[in-house]
Amino acid sequence: MSDKSRKLTAQEKRIYLRLLARTRPYAGRLALAVVFGMLFGGSVFGLLFSAKGGMAQVFGGRATRLQESADAWLQSWYGGNLDHDLLLTVAVLAVLLLFIALRGATFFLSKYLIEWVAQRVVMVLRNDLFGKILHLPMLYFTGSRTGELMSRTLNDTQLIERGITEVICDLVQQPFVLLGAATYLFFIDLRLAAISLAVFPVCLLPIAVFGKRVRRHSKAGQERIADLASIQQEAIGGAAIVRAFGTEDREQARFEKHSFDFFRRQIKITASKAAINPLMEFFSVLAACAILLYSRHAGLELSDIILFLGSMVLMYDPVKKLSRVHLVVQQSSAAAERIFAILDVVDNVADLPGARPLHGPISEIRYEGVSFTYGAGKPQVLDGIDSAARSGELVALVGGSGSGKTTLVNLLPRFFDPVAGHVRLDGRDLREFTLESLRRHIGLVTQETILFNDTVFHNVAYGEPGATREQVVAAAKKAHAHDFIQAMPQGYDTVIAERGLLLSGGQRQRLAIARALLRNPPILILDEATSALDTESERAVQLALNEAMQGRTVFAIAHRLSTIQRADQILVLDRGRIAERGRHAELLARGGIYERLYRMQFENQAPDAGVSAP
Ligand code: ADP
Repeated sequence: MSDKSRKLTAQEKRIYLRLLARTRPYAGRLALAVVFGMLFGGSVFGLLFSAKGGMAQVFGGRATRLQESADAWLQSWYGGNLDHDLLLTVAVLAVLLLFIALRGATFFLSKYLIEWVAQRVVMVLRNDLFGKILHLPMLYFTGSRTGELMSRTLNDTQLIERGITEVICDLVQQPFVLLGAATYLFFIDLRLAAISLAVFPVCLLPIAVFGKRVRRHSKAGQERIADLASIQQEAIGGAAIVRAFGTEDREQARFEKHSFDFFRRQIKITASKAAINPLMEFFSVLAACAILLYSRHAGLELSDIILFLGSMVLMYDPVKKLSRVHLVVQQSSAAAERIFAILDVVDNVADLPGARPLHGPISEIRYEGVSFTYGAGKPQVLDGIDSAARSGELVALVGGSGSGKTTLVNLLPRFFDPVAGHVRLDGRDLREFTLESLRRHIGLVTQETILFNDTVFHNVAYGEPGATREQVVAAAKKAHAHDFIQAMPQGYDTVIAERGLLLSGGQRQRLAIARALLRNPPILILDEATSALDTESERAVQLALNEAMQGRTVFAIAHRLSTIQRADQILVLDRGRIAERGRHAELLARGGIYERLYRMQFENQAPDAGVSAP
């Protein structure tokens, strides 16, 4: 009743039902909650009924059924030889207490059961969502989405929790409360009840009208605040521009316009809020006066009138709550929609039926007419790549930013699958192998080193939870990381807090190399860091890399001259195609793209890279 602004759309209903379907495993608890909800509603009737008996007993009036029953019961027990009136009063009041206790207990039980189910559904949803995020296709992740994904697992699931709890609680408890109270109205006086129920909605009119206004203006007010924030941000961030172009007055005027609009809306909200209560009170007292007038005519007792008004008041809460249900459904189905959108992502990089584990040595890795795009309608990122690497070779990928180097190597662990063509290991398409076994054969050292909030030992052993101390130390030694690890306060047991902020860039890279080496993968993908390290770190990382490459097939996105010079083949990428290929000296002599890149990138740094030209 408080908001008829928008009906639920079919989409919202469908999503909400899908959400509710998740409560199915707990159907027994929900059924029990409904039973307690009914008892809760019934207790309202009992409460009014026994209150009437209590009042009649204490203040006098027509004898009620409760008094008669209690009287008969007492008679059968005591035969009426004690202070009968006092006993009767106590007995009647005891019934009243019984009902209030029943009301409390049934409220508690139904609320508890529903909250339990809702929290449980949310917990499972949260876990499912995190599980899904761990398996989402890599295509799903582009930097800007991190915050959004986190917000879904935490905020949206919370919104859903409210959606489930409130809606089910309200639907399970409130209709019965309404029913209990309304029945009692009819119990007192049929005609008065019928008229009152017809007029009752009028008393709620102020909430309907003004509540809607409050919501409308609050939403607009929120938008104004956001506008104010962004104008302010621009004025601070662009302080120099504002002054240089002399637009101070214009900015001020723009700010004041939104500021005034915000003020206007706040005042309207205040006015609407302040109007609701007096109007409700006025209408309620008006209704009470009408009831009093009627009861004079119908000869109702005082207790009847009090309880009649009391039950009207008891009906207010259920009506308010039930009228709000669709709003809550709207909110939670919006949150549920965002969550289901993630849960519904199909992982098209999953294992094919009949996929076999990859075993043993790999003597050739071949790209055959491989093309790739990050989505229908998006530009072609790789275009007809043909290339082969034999076991033990070092393949250096070189090319301008955005030329497709990262995409090319990411096809190997099947972060994505080619749109056309094949990547083959000894003639077999990658898709013939199980993902897990394929990825076990590939070591990955990314530019940005991801360290976890754990000990050095566990960070190195990340992919091999069963690794022994000796294995970890051996890997660290190969990665030239052993010495600096030993120098840390607790050596291998030092906790790397805050994503390794206390480590230097070179140290982080060496830990990443150690992590990749621990698995002893036959294939190594190396995305060399572009960020400059100091000469000493650079040299240590270089030594680590040289060692890491020994005896493996390496695909290196090469930024270091030494890697490029040692490479068995250099693939020069240009807009998704292999523009040139060959060894360093051949490519230099050719005087093409490579030569240009080399002059631009490496000539000045050559002495720093610590490697003399061959
Ligand atoms: P490089 O490693 O050579 O810098 P990339 O393989 O990272 O090149 O990128 C090649 C092209 O693909 C670029 O134009 C880039 O904008 C685009 N691209 C890379 N990753 C994504 C992605 N996740 N979604 C859409 N486009 C992408």
